[in-house]
Amino acid sequence: MTDRKDELAANLAKVERRIADACAAAGRARDEVTLIVVTKTYPASDVRILAELGVRHVAENRDQDAAPKAAACSDLPLTWHFVGQLQTNKVRSVVGYADMVQSVDRARLVTALSREAERQERELGCLIQVALDAGESGRGERGGVGPGGIEELGDLVAGAPGLRLAGLMTVAPLTGPYAGREQAAFERLMDLSTDLRRAHPAANMVSAGMSADLEQAVAAGATHVRVGTAVLGVRARLG
Ligand SMILES: *Cc1c(COP(=O)(O)O)cnc(C)c1O
Repeated sequence: MTDRKDELAANLAKVERRIADACAAAGRARDEVTLIVVTKTYPASDVRILAELGVRHVAENRDQDAAPKAAACSDLPLTWHFVGQLQTNKVRSVVGYADMVQSVDRARLVTALSREAERQERELGCLIQVALDAGESGRGERGGVGPGGIEELGDLVAGAPGLRLAGLMTVAPLTGPYAGREQAAFERLMDLSTDLRRAHPAANMVSAGMSADLEQAVAAGATHVRVGTAVLGVRARLG
């Protein structure tokens, strides 16, 4: 193995251990939690190594970075998640490679994604990004809709051709009542997921937890954790 492959294999093993321990501590089966590796700012060669090491889900947050990487890796058996703030002028590109958009947070974006998914004859899974630092009906610093906006947006996605409402996503807030209380934030997301599933039973994905707080997310009931740094290393620039 190359040095990089050794390094990624060792990091993946550590993250796998953490997820397995968190599942055991929570009385959950290991297969209830899916690891998504966030490959933003890292090259396509790393994505290829991750696929060789058994990773099946990767995530990106900037189309400029992601589009060429996804094209270079189109032969790999990967599911691509888009997790960044998404401008409508990038929708055409993103729908070209993403299987899932986790950052759906406004009606205009739903309309654009639906139109493009239909045009490209793709089915796109959508998660509503919930901002827990925004108040009931505000918008988050880093994207996302306040809890009061979930129902309307969920109904809109569920009725949009080409889109499939898959669930909810959040990032632990840095400000507001949940700052520094990751597990409470993720438990709130679970409650919101329970509400959403009353109307949309299949929308059962709960994407929460990153390198620093994946244990709290697993404890709260997350189905997907999004881990970058702990697998690939500290990013050289903001991403
Ligand atoms: C970068 C990013 C992650 C991964 O964060 P790490 O701290 O590197 O694990 C997860 N989710 C989103 C939305 C991100 O932008």
